Amino acid sequence: MTNKPFVIAGNEIEPGTKRTILFPAPNINTQVKIDIPAHVFHGKYKGPKIFIIGAIHGDELNGVEIIRRVHEKISVKRLHGTIITVPVVNIHGVIMQTRYLTDRRDLNRSFPGAKKGTLASRLAFGLMTQIVKHCDYGIDLHTGANGRINIPQLRVDFSVAGTKEFAKSFKAPVILASKQRDGSLRAAAARLGIPVLVYEGGEALRFNELCICAGTDGVLNVLNHLKMQKFSDKKFNRTSKSVITDTSRWVRAPASGIVQPMKGVIASHVQKGEVLANIHDPYLINPSTALIAPFEGVVIGQALKAMATEGDALFHIASFKNIKGVRAYIDELWDEISD
Ligand SMILES: [Zn+2]
Repeated sequence: MTNKPFVIAGNEIEPGTKRTILFPAPNINTQVKIDIPAHVFHGKYKGPKIFIIGAIHGDELNGVEIIRRVHEKISVKRLHGTIITVPVVNIHGVIMQTRYLTDRRDLNRSFPGAKKGTLASRLAFGLMTQIVKHCDYGIDLHTGANGRINIPQLRVDFSVAGTKEFAKSFKAPVILASKQRDGSLRAAAARLGIPVLVYEGGEALRFNELCICAGTDGVLNVLNHLKMQKFSDKKFNRTSKSVITDTSRWVRAPASGIVQPMKGVIASHVQKGEVLANIHDPYLINPSTALIAPFEGVVIGQALKAMATEGDALFHIASFKNIKGVRAYIDELWDEISD
């Protein structure tokens, strides 16, 4: 069925067209004007509305590249429904190459925000009222925090109706069932009944090809699943499935010092009792301390800094009933990008 015009922020967008809209944001302190560009792909045919956003944390950049690649695949003449993308939400953070805003607040702890609140709160309020509330679904693209790397994974709260099928359709290798965080976009959208997938892949300030590919494929898999646009590539019809877990734990440094991780520990299947890293004394006086895996699982995240203080989170291990499934899926993705 043919779509109707879509009205957003006072702009009327005809079906089968794409429009870029500039949302004004508070200027930077030298009064240089800041606008947040959003792209609206309004499909020729009726269908769901979905937002896809990147860089809500200003140093998490894989999402910007994922959205760029997704743009290349969208055809508004074939599209059922509407896609709103915001490649860079936290422009202030991107300029400074930091997770935070200029007031050192975390935008993803400031939702749903308020019109007259802090800078973070005002930006959150703008995103909620101008974009999120218009949508039926959302995808929020992240990476590991600065100094950490994550394998491609979704963070999902299954208590929001419709989330499980939506999450599985992304086909990330791992789905981590995790509770809502107060002040996050995901929690604020859930209160409006809008399921949001949080994708985590790679590390801050760098591009990671595996995680960009898995994220791009994931978004296109979702568009396929929602019958918004069909993609016939073999990889969008793969048989590998996401493996779901609600059991994961960060393993912490048992001593301070230089961290020497075992080779290739990220994404690997580790056994209980296996040495994940050795922690050495930088002055070479005291003996080294081994960091041991406390249970069997897959390393889904890892701290990358060379030095640690006792108690620092170093390895994120998740346990799965189907560990082989996770490993096989990661190998499949790896083979795909190595071709
Ligand atoms: Zn993030």
